[in-house]
Amino acid sequence: MSTILDTGAADDLGVPAAQRRSAELERQIREQPGRFRALTGDRPTGRLHLGHYFGSLHNRVRLQNLGVDMMVLIADYQVLTDRDVADRLTEHVENLVVDYLAVGIDPDRATIFTHSAIPALNQLLLPFLSLVSVAELSRNPTVKDEIAHSRQSAVSGLMFTYPVHQAADILFCKARLVPVGQDQLPHLEIARTIARRFNKRYGIAASPVFPEPEALLSAAPLLLGTDGGKMSKSRGNSIALSATADETARLIRGAKTDADRHITYDPVARPEVSSLVLLAALCLGRDPHEVAGEIGGKGAAALKAVVTDAVNDYFAPIRARRAELARDRAHIRRVLRDGNERAAAVADATLTQVRAAMNSLY
Ligand code: ATP
Ligand code: MG
Repeated sequence: MSTILDTGAADDLGVPAAQRRSAELERQIREQPGRFRALTGDRPTGRLHLGHYFGSLHNRVRLQNLGVDMMVLIADYQVLTDRDVADRLTEHVENLVVDYLAVGIDPDRATIFTHSAIPALNQLLLPFLSLVSVAELSRNPTVKDEIAHSRQSAVSGLMFTYPVHQAADILFCKARLVPVGQDQLPHLEIARTIARRFNKRYGIAASPVFPEPEALLSAAPLLLGTDGGKMSKSRGNSIALSATADETARLIRGAKTDADRHITYDPVARPEVSSLVLLAALCLGRDPHEVAGEIGGKGAAALKAVVTDAVNDYFAPIRARRAELARDRAHIRRVLRDGNERAAAVADATLTQVRAAMNSLY
């Protein structure tokens, strides 16, 4: 099992501290949502899944509805970190937009964009690369995990440096909040380091160029897939938001559990069973201990039946909306074009500021 997934590693990644900080941030957001901009996104490598929904999407919609300025990034260059060719890219990008709109991201309030379309964002990568060492990049546990699962025999420079690219994704719009799953915590640390170092090297102490972004973890920062590893689009272990009710039932039936028939909620000792319990609890809006307690000695098959019904009931309206939206591809393309225009204007302004700070505005 990878470093990121074994439960001991969660402490090393600073998950408990990030969870405490997330609670404090939530309090500040409720007081003054308009003070915050959030950025988060996904790689267009396949269909969004339940891990995305409960790890990040649900938070994005909630923040948007509270009045936070939401930027949603489709990280199309990042597809090439672990594979040679970005196949079916347009289809994946459009499907991501369909998923976003179906779960409630509102393109009139949120900016949905692809980073390949924003030249000024990508230009930030060059000064940012000068601010981190090779040793710092090679210590990143998420990158190590992704290299282990990569389809490539050699590690590309893009794989190695993509957390710096991600810092550009976050910092170009000066986002303070990044609603993500726990795999992103090491990347957030790099983005914070880059912001700090840039301000120190080029900024004026009284008016730093970049705020330090912070992770906002959800109640499910690491939902497991049907094989017991992190649910991931690219690992064949996920349940897509767009899955049918029957597919969902089949996938959950095949999910890994353990030998103990008595169902409990104990994420450290029983990660697979607990992830299923948590999934049901999130869909039902209930406490996972209570859900597990009710199933008790009825065993894994009963647990899976509860999870299947809960997931299918919860996602039925989202899936119906999704099917409707998928019919109007022209609308989906328009949403992207508008978002790209808005993001490009933000990136141009930041790059001008960065070049001024670096004395390279000729
Ligand atoms: P891929 O396998 O192609 O890397 P992925 O499933 O890991 O896909 P990403 O696009 O890399 O998805 O991640 C998008 C966002 O969703 C990130 O914020 C990430 O933390 C979050 N996320 C992804 N998988 C999970 C999961 N299993 N549980 C919680 N959050 C997740
Ligand atoms: Mg990933």
